[in-house]
Amino acid sequence: MPDRRPPDDHDHASCIEDALSEAEAVCAERGARLTDLRRRVLELVWTSHEPVGAYDILSRLGGDGRRAAPPTVYRALEFLLENGLVHRIESLNAFVGCPSPKAPHSGQFLLCTGCGTATELTDGAIQSAVSDAASRAGFRTGHVTLEIKGLCRHCAGTAAAKPRAHAH
Ligand SMILES: [Zn+2]
Ligand SMILES: [Zn+2]
Ligand SMILES: [Zn+2]
Repeated sequence: MPDRRPPDDHDHASCIEDALSEAEAVCAERGARLTDLRRRVLELVWTSHEPVGAYDILSRLGGDGRRAAPPTVYRALEFLLENGLVHRIESLNAFVGCPSPKAPHSGQFLLCTGCGTATELTDGAIQSAVSDAASRAGFRTGHVTLEIKGLCRHCAGTAAAKPRAHAH
């Protein structure tokens, strides 16, 4: 396992709290039922900003002393996906919580190869550039998810610090 540190010091407990209360609001608005299991799965996805696979969610649930059958967890994830509460990162076959699930959108993700965190962008200009370019090619876009790999501010800063130190 590489040394993985959070990209920024921040109050992650409040990220989780915000995500859960957003989820409750979104579900209430849509008449969708955020059951205990769905809520717990969402909370587990929000353990960090690092995308998490279904298998890891299952084992974290096991740590709760709750034995959830895999299909139950997959259905919970499916529910969270359908309601835009989580996004799937295809290249990692993993899930990450959406910080702004109220308005449906397709995700654009900055994936840090250093610490593994995913940062979501919701840039309308990128969205329309993609669909314009596609329609010029006669292609009608369906589901669009952009996954951009690189280094987050924290990891890029750590990498840049070394050559600077040599320059002195
Ligand atoms: Zn956080
Ligand atoms: Zn999102
Ligand atoms: Zn990073």
